Parts: sequence; C-alpha cells; structure tokens
Amino acid sequence: EKVLWNDQLTTRDEVKIGIEDRGYQFGDGIYEVIKVYGGDVFTATEHIDRFYSSAEKIAMALPYTKDVLHHLIHQLIEENELENGIVYLQATRGDSPRNHPYPNPAVEAVLTGYTRETKRPLAELEAGVPVILIEDIRWLRCDIKSLNLLGNVMAKQQAVEKGCFEAVQHRGDVITEGSSSNAFGIKDGTLYTHPTTNLILNGITRQVILDCCKEIGLPVVEEAFTVEQAKQMDEFFISSTGIEVMPVIKLDDHVVGNGTPGEWTRKLQHAFEAKLPRKLYV
Ligand code: PLP
Repeated sequence: EKVLWNDQLTTRDEVKIGIEDRGYQFGDGIYEVIKVYGGDVFTATEHIDRFYSSAEKIAMALPYTKDVLHHLIHQLIEENELENGIVYLQATRGDSPRNHPYPNPAVEAVLTGYTRETKRPLAELEAGVPVILIEDIRWLRCDIKSLNLLGNVMAKQQAVEKGCFEAVQHRGDVITEGSSSNAFGIKDGTLYTHPTTNLILNGITRQVILDCCKEIGLPVVEEAFTVEQAKQMDEFFISSTGIEVMPVIKLDDHVVGNGTPGEWTRKLQHAFEAKLPRKLYV
C-alpha cells in the first residue's frame, strides 16, 4: 500500500514528519476527504479547488499545481487498486521551530495523503439515523477545512456517548451544521439549509444536493433556521462525502415526521445516486 508524501508515492514507514510540524503542533493546516466509487474519483475538481481555497484563506502556499495534485491522487488510487473508499489529503504549513507567527521566510508545506477502503453506510441510508442537538462551540472560520477539529471531535463524542450518529450544532438558536456534515430541513415542500457563511463548511455534497433539488423540483431556501423550526420540519437530513444524503429520524428526543425517512429525502437520495460514477458499487 502506497501513501503520498509531498510529491512522492512511497510506503507508510518511509514517511518522516517532524515533531515541530505546524500541523502537529498548531493544527496549522488543511485537509480534504474525497470519495472513490468503482475506481472513479467523485467531484475531484470541486475537492481540489476547495483544498486550494482553504490554503489561500490561511495564506499557505501549496507547492504543486492543481493538475499535479489530480495526477498524484489518480496515481495513488491506481497503485493501491482502490475500488470503493476515500482519499485523505492534507497539507500543513511545514516544519519550523515552534513559534506562533507564520515562518518567515516560509518553509515548504508538508503534503500527505492515503487511501482507505470504505463501504457506503447502506443500512443507515435506508433506515435513517438519530442525532443530538448541541451548542456550536467552534471558532468563527468554519468555512476553512482546517485541521483544527477539537470542537468537532468533542461534539461527535457527545453524539456517540448518547448512541447517536451525529451531533447537529446550533449557535445560539441557529442550526449551523453537523460535526462532520451539513444539515437540511424540509417543510411544506421547501428545503432549508444554512447559507454558506463563515459559520459552516460549504460541503461538496451540499453543492451536489442543491443541484439535485433543481432536478427534482424542490425549492431551496438558503437561510438560517432555528432549533425550534428544525423540530417542526417534515423531514431532516445531513450530508457529507462519506454519508451522502443521510436521513435523520430523531433530533434529541424529538421524532422527525413519522420517524422514517421522508419522501423528498428519498427522492434526493435517488437523484444523488444517479450522479455516482458507476451504478455498480457496494
Ligand atoms: N461540515 C463539516 C464540519 C465537515 O467536516 C464536513 C465533511 O466532513 C462537511 C460539512 C461536509 O462536507 P463534504 O460534503 O464536502 O464532505
């Protein structure tokens, strides 16, 4: 199994990361998770564009062009014969004596990547999942896909401890997003989701879903909604690269709709599946 280290494909035990790597010490870096279906990369361009956009937002120079990165990702998938799974990609600001300001002069970013086989969460996609509602305690630049994930990690842990699939966060009254997903409600035939501000990550899956809404004739309102409004939605779901269109059947103790995935959510699941690179996957 090969991994990516800067612009090299190598083995995991060859990789040397410094103990003063800024990703390790400060979480000073960015990442992407990209899905592979039947050997094909899904929405690779969108993920690579977001990777560069995250880097730009933290004034970090990536030493490779987007084309080189595309090529390296494809090489990695081929080398590892990955059929169904994910590519994880991250870049840190590099290895430099510990000091908060960006190194000046800059040191080279450290890029790492690997593949992992995963299965689509088919049982959950069919049955729907319960989530908890939790205060969003994260920072104010959630639009950056940053390695700083402690707030997200703590939120997800709360969900797991309560036997739930995800923690859907709210800042004050306003629903923002899940700990590793975007959140959507459907009421009277309209889809509601938080606008793409600094308070959420603009999910690639979210963008695909908004295209699906157009295709199936589901009107979209990108406006913040409250916890109380969330509990009045007919349907609720969360999305990410790994979980696609995941129906939510419980918000804390509140049962969503009749407690099973709603009709619009099912239609969105089908419209989403129709976009996947190959029809035959597991
Ligand atoms: N929001 C957060 C905080 C995430 O970590 C993720 C992905 O893991 C998402 C949203 C969904 O993004 P995407 O659909 O690009 O995977």
